[in-house]
Amino acid sequence: MSTPPLDETHDPDVHSFVRSAHHHPDFPIQNLPLGVFSVGDELSSAGRGGVRIGDDVLDLPRLASVGLLTGSALRAARAASAPTLNDLLALGPEPRRELRRQLHGLLAQDTPDRLAVADCLHPVADVQLALPATIGDFTDFYAGIHHARAVGALFRPDHPLLPNYTWVPIGYHGRSSSVAVSPDVVHRPRGQMATPSGIPTYAPTQRLDIELELGIWIGANPAPEQVPPISSAADQIAGYCLLNDWSARDIQAWEYQPLGPFLAKSFATTVSPWIVTPEALAPYRRPVERPVDDPAPLPYLRDPADQAAGGLDVQLEILLRTAAMLRAHESSVTLSRSSTRHLYWTPAQLVAHHASGGLQLRPGDLLGSGTISGPDPGSAGSLLEISGGGTVPIQLPGGETRTFLEDGDEITLRARATRPGVAPIGFGECRAVVVGPRPTGSDHRDGGHGGATAGG
Ligand code: CA
Repeated sequence: MSTPPLDETHDPDVHSFVRSAHHHPDFPIQNLPLGVFSVGDELSSAGRGGVRIGDDVLDLPRLASVGLLTGSALRAARAASAPTLNDLLALGPEPRRELRRQLHGLLAQDTPDRLAVADCLHPVADVQLALPATIGDFTDFYAGIHHARAVGALFRPDHPLLPNYTWVPIGYHGRSSSVAVSPDVVHRPRGQMATPSGIPTYAPTQRLDIELELGIWIGANPAPEQVPPISSAADQIAGYCLLNDWSARDIQAWEYQPLGPFLAKSFATTVSPWIVTPEALAPYRRPVERPVDDPAPLPYLRDPADQAAGGLDVQLEILLRTAAMLRAHESSVTLSRSSTRHLYWTPAQLVAHHASGGLQLRPGDLLGSGTISGPDPGSAGSLLEISGGGTVPIQLPGGETRTFLEDGDEITLRARATRPGVAPIGFGECRAVVVGPRPTGSDHRDGGHGGATAGG
């Protein structure tokens, strides 16, 4: 595995001439994440690639046109003229690193090209953000071992963790069209769920939940003709985001056996808009920590460099604001704090395992890590865990309670990486509000045949 080296782009003493980037909690000059944006009223125009710096977005195609970028960085910026970043992700690590290096120089306080670069900035308040890539395939893993154990205990108190868990990264194929960018609106899904009578009902879910996950954006496969070894799997990762895998627990409980998640998961997935690169996260790598009694990974998942520095140390937070809190101008309340250090498998192991059978991961594919819970109740990554399977209501400051989500609730995920001597960086928000079910055709017509002319 090649961990990107620390270089001048990580120097905490360098500041940008973009004033809002000074000590920005998420987007100082040491971060420089990639995204897709369009400007204000350009509703008919497709988006293009940009880089977040402070409260501004740097327009990559415009910067490419003014002659300040060279070599592979210029190639990368030109690839970002498309309304998705798939072409840029397909270039692989070297052009992305070179783009970061040149952008760092151009955005630094002492750049001689300040005026020309400033002309390529848009206030983020003036732009609309889009999904950064066209997602060919979306896979959701289950690499949060504390979540797997806690949820397993709700269903199987005697053996919460199935015996395969410490050997094989568990996952399922999700649905790429369910993925939308923050800020998102999530309609409460309808579905089948069990009743005591044995005859299922079909109704809006009453157990709407969240899952706090790390998203992994796939870039170029360095050797498409081969099954990529674990030693090169990290090179196939183009970056990271936050991912909320919305889940309907009552629908899930009825449908999940024997083939796993289906409609309980495929109605909505929200991601944060910025791709935080492996280079930006280089200072926040950490060694893998496995309990001593657990088996060592099989050889195809074991790489000394990955074991030494393949983990990530990013702090995560779930916030809730109810409709009543919004009306009362109250700020969000923190439901949980966790960390990516609780993932049992490294991102490189997830990639290596996924591709091990011979399938091709493609630029723009998205992997979810699985719910990242910590070992104690204050660090759970889902309401299912926080509320003890819906039995222990969460008390909110204004006197409200929640087990699962109600219409009008707004959920925000945040991620931040901090370490002494290093500039802190963040991921930005992954935010969505819950609303009622989508109208169906039969909602609008007397004696309608349901669905045939479904609205919404
Ligand atoms: Ca999940």
